[in-house]
This record gives sequence, C-alpha cells and structure tokens, in this order.
Amino acid sequence: MLSDDPLHLGVPLRTTLNFCIMANMAIPGVYVYKRNGRVAYVGRSDRDVYARESASFRAANYDLTVTIHERSSPFQAYRTECRLFHKYEPSDNDIHPAVPAGANWRCPVNGCCWS
Ligand SMILES: [Zn+2]
Repeated sequence: MLSDDPLHLGVPLRTTLNFCIMANMAIPGVYVYKRNGRVAYVGRSDRDVYARESASFRAANYDLTVTIHERSSPFQAYRTECRLFHKYEPSDNDIHPAVPAGANWRCPVNGCCWS
C-alpha cells in the first residue's frame, strides 16, 4: 500500500461520467455518488459493481460523475465501503455497510461498533 494512502483506498479505477461506463467483467467493488460535489452515497456490490452502480444511479439526483473502486473480493469491497462510509458519512446512507448473511466480517475502522 502507498504510504500516503492511509485509508488504503488505492487509486479509483475510474472517475467518469456515469453514462460512459462500459464494463464487460463482473467484479466486486464500491461506488461513490456525489451531489453538488459532496459525497452523498456509498454503495457496494459483492458480484458486479458496474451493474449495481448503474441500477442505483437512477434512484436519486446525483452528480453525473461516479467513482468506482474495483476490489479483488467481496470482503475487500466491504472493507473499502466501511472506510468510505466512515470518512464521508454520506447523507443518503442510512445504515452501516451490511455484512452478507453467514459472514462474520468486522468493520476495519477503529471505534466503530461493528469493528
Ligand atoms: Zn464501521
């Protein structure tokens, strides 16, 4: 990990206009929506972040730019989602990132009641 990357988020694969996203592989990941330039929602897909992101985008009036963090596994996607959730406290996220049924993952953020 990069030393100047304390949240271990890495470099987003792409920050682009939402309607330009084209992806042909299903990959876990996290997506970030902004409204008026401020992070408004963080979402995750354990299977196909691009398909999930496209479906969610229609749900609210977000800025056209979306940030996608591809991850190597659902667990890594969960950890990234938690870090972004705690960093930005997005207004449209009502609850803490969910753990899939049957998993016993813990939030990586110190002090969180899910850690
Ligand atoms: Zn947490």
